[in-house]
Amino acid sequence: MFNKFINKYNCTTLFSILALNIITFFYFPFYIYKNGIVWQEPLLLLIGWVVAGMGITVGYHRYFSHKTFKTSSFIEWILMICGTMGLQNKIINWCSDHRIHHKKLDTADDPYSIKEGFFHAHIGWIVKKGKERIIGVSDLKKKRAVKFQTKYYWSMAMILCFVIPFFIGLTFNRPIGGLLWGGIVRVVFVHHFTFFINSFCHFIGKRNYQFNTTARDSWIMAFFTFGEGYHNFHHKFQWDYRNGINWYSFDPSKWIIKFLSYFKLTYSLRKVDKPIIIRAQIETVNNKISELAQKIKIDKILNKNIKDITSSALKNIDSWELLESKCKKLKQKGHKNNIFYKKRIKYFELKLENSLSSLMLILMNLKNIS
Ligand SMILES: [Zn+2]
Ligand SMILES: [Zn+2]
Repeated sequence: MFNKFINKYNCTTLFSILALNIITFFYFPFYIYKNGIVWQEPLLLLIGWVVAGMGITVGYHRYFSHKTFKTSSFIEWILMICGTMGLQNKIINWCSDHRIHHKKLDTADDPYSIKEGFFHAHIGWIVKKGKERIIGVSDLKKKRAVKFQTKYYWSMAMILCFVIPFFIGLTFNRPIGGLLWGGIVRVVFVHHFTFFINSFCHFIGKRNYQFNTTARDSWIMAFFTFGEGYHNFHHKFQWDYRNGINWYSFDPSKWIIKFLSYFKLTYSLRKVDKPIIIRAQIETVNNKISELAQKIKIDKILNKNIKDITSSALKNIDSWELLESKCKKLKQKGHKNNIFYKKRIKYFELKLENSLSSLMLILMNLKNIS
């Protein structure tokens, strides 16, 4: 039994994670009960949480893993340091696992496949002994910030996550408070809220852009994950710097990347063209209708209606794409703000929004019948 346990789990990681969680969920409330709270402590937690969380989402995820934008080596170092505060292993390990997750999604090779259960996807894969592989990250190994982190990761992580918060706590005579609020508890919070992306974001929400996948879009999860909750979109278009594409979609990581671009600190932000996004949405709704058609009988007139809406939408997308490419050529020649093209694009946008709404309405009605 003992041998079985030793063979299954990475004991150092398991006990470290257990210790951090036990302190957070059992000792921390007791500490507060005994010693109260001073204003510096929640502030330390909040700042550390945002900085480390952004280090993971903007740095580890959208920059290092997916190269959704470019930046200077100075910002690269900042992102590396903030990401190290997340205590989620080296960039090369994290990105290797994540790139495999995208490539081998929902298969036995997916390191945090939800198909192996919620617990496995959330935290189990970290504490279990798995295939130790660092592949597909040769581009990252060339970066100086990544090389430095690979060499000094554990010293850096210990200093950033525990030593510094302890000393900050010392400045207001509560070193243990500083260590708990700014270190241990903060790390555990960042851990679980990042792990939600691998568990909840493959579990709850909607498939709006890709049908045959476990990845889901959920605005609720976006609130807890610095915008990473729009995970279905992300799996379909992983190189887009946004996860939430609407202006009102809660995606602070997207806002930070965009904000930095105004000061030229980030540039070449990659974005999927709108017609491609709408094509994916139309295809997904059609796939959902086809799935329902296996359970209920759809009458001939409705079937024809669905086909007509879809084919007219796809024709409009083709025309829109043609227009966009003409627009790009004109821009390259120095023409700006061609009102005729802008009006045509708006026309296609409205037409396609109507087509998509009609298909969604049909899908909703069919769901109600089934
Ligand atoms: Zn995923
Ligand atoms: Zn990703």
